[in-house]
Amino acid sequence: MRNRSDPGQVIPLQQCVECQGEGEVKQIFSRWLCNTCNGLGMVDKATGKALEPDTVIRQLLIRLRHAREQGRTLQQELAKARTFIEQYNALQKGRDKRHNRPELKQP
Ligand SMILES: [Zn+2]
Repeated sequence: MRNRSDPGQVIPLQQCVECQGEGEVKQIFSRWLCNTCNGLGMVDKATGKALEPDTVIRQLLIRLRHAREQGRTLQQELAKARTFIEQYNALQKGRDKRHNRPELKQP
């Protein structure tokens, strides 16, 4: 296991070669949990080895936090776009009546 100075950093992952990311290995009459990735379907990109369960949980929490931050940023950008469109439409409303232009639609 590598020594990581920052436990909050994202560990790059890659698809498990053994199970092709399925987390299971098919046999003739049954399916088994993939031993290479411990059923995760992903492995540490640097080592090619399975992550420990506590590391999987930590990585999921880190990625969840990042996804929430991205969601908040996208909501803010969407709100800005809506405000811009409302202001644009308000400004154009009077002019459009003269030139018969359609209004922009909300995203
Ligand atoms: Zn696997």
